[in-house]
Amino acid sequence: IDIDRFKQVNDGLGMSAGDTILLTLARRIIRLTKPQDTLARLGGDQFGLILLSETEPARIAAFAEAVKAAIRAPITFAKREIILTASLGLVSWTSVQATGEDLVKDAELAVFQAKRFGGDRIEPFRPAFRSVGSDRLQLESDLRRAVERNELSIVYQPIVQLSDMTVAGFEALLRWEHPRRGSIPPVEFIPLAEGCNIIGQLGQFAMSQAAAQLSLWQKTTGNSTVFMSVNLSSRQILRRDLVQEVRNILANSQVAKGTFKLELTESAVMENPEQAVFILDKIRSMGIGLSLDDFGTGHSSLAYLSRFPFDLLKIDKTFLHDESPKKFVLLKSMINMAHELGLKVVVEGIETDRDALQLRQLHCEFAQSYLFGEPMSAENALRLLREQNTAAVRA
Ligand code: C2E
Ligand code: MG
Ligand code: MG
Repeated sequence: IDIDRFKQVNDGLGMSAGDTILLTLARRIIRLTKPQDTLARLGGDQFGLILLSETEPARIAAFAEAVKAAIRAPITFAKREIILTASLGLVSWTSVQATGEDLVKDAELAVFQAKRFGGDRIEPFRPAFRSVGSDRLQLESDLRRAVERNELSIVYQPIVQLSDMTVAGFEALLRWEHPRRGSIPPVEFIPLAEGCNIIGQLGQFAMSQAAAQLSLWQKTTGNSTVFMSVNLSSRQILRRDLVQEVRNILANSQVAKGTFKLELTESAVMENPEQAVFILDKIRSMGIGLSLDDFGTGHSSLAYLSRFPFDLLKIDKTFLHDESPKKFVLLKSMINMAHELGLKVVVEGIETDRDALQLRQLHCEFAQSYLFGEPMSAENALRLLREQNTAAVRA
């Protein structure tokens, strides 16, 4: 049994208050046990319980629920009401676990899994947790520290306007330089961050860095139309404070109106459509652009295109890899459909100039691919914008 976010209690109320609260919690748990059961504090905010009084799986589950509920009940402290939750791991003794240590280790893996799913949760141990392994555990704890240690950075990939081949904007992409493992790609660490609840922190880092850069670029180049697009994970849409966070970032950075955009994938929106509509409408009303990312991968539900306030469609790069001549049939209809719904289109991953030309003839507005520029440092992005400015003046 591990209390969720207990550090906040210690930080906010002080250690002695933290101790008092731990005692309260311990008393609540012990009240649920019988004489043959054992409760111990294993360390910090972690308790271990050996339950001998129940053997029926259903009754064990009910007991765990009771523990969870007992912890969740509000605690009155210094005229304040504090609500804490816990993550519980359940493991039953089998002859496979040779020692007590093995049993505790498995229980801890289950607790860890419960935390990864957001806490306030009971997770029965499964052998698969072992292969999720210490490697992953290590990486997750490294990721928690990566922000403070400045190991995370943002690179910017140009989004080019096909009609005149100028840079219209950039997508901000997170990078993690691990001190021992070297660079770890976002497809690996973003899911990790989503699983252990630090995606909010990473997302905020990406948004505030990107907004600050955009503001700087707009001021130093005088280009007030260049836009910035930042990826948003599904977990971030579920956070209630996202709207306020975005509002603060906009207020602090003072980017030109309508030049800050957020990107979401279909699956992110579909995880909780009602909540997503609610949040996205609010974000849209602040003048922030919304792009539907990776369109065409996974289960595309066209209904979502009209139901959500998107203004830009990003067609996934898999369509461009397609060698068959029919690929333009699909691209053409997607582009037309987007236009009829009032959306502009970015095609990702264009590999040849011929394809770019074809897409331009289909009135696709933008392209983003290695062909037109790889993700680059902020300095190089600014240089690119400056060069473009000078070229425009000369022309
Ligand atoms: P995405 O949002 O679809 O970003 C585009 C990805 O395609 C980037 O990969 C980019 O480097 C890559 N790409 C661009 N042009 C080409 C091309 O011509 N060919 C090929 N093969 N690939 C190209 P990257 O940077 O590895 O990012 C992967 C994914 O990680 C992103 O996909 C996005 O879903 C996620 N991601 C990156 N940064 C963030 C972030 O700050 N927050 C969240 N939630 N997700 C992020
Ligand atoms: Mg994206
Ligand atoms: Mg994409």
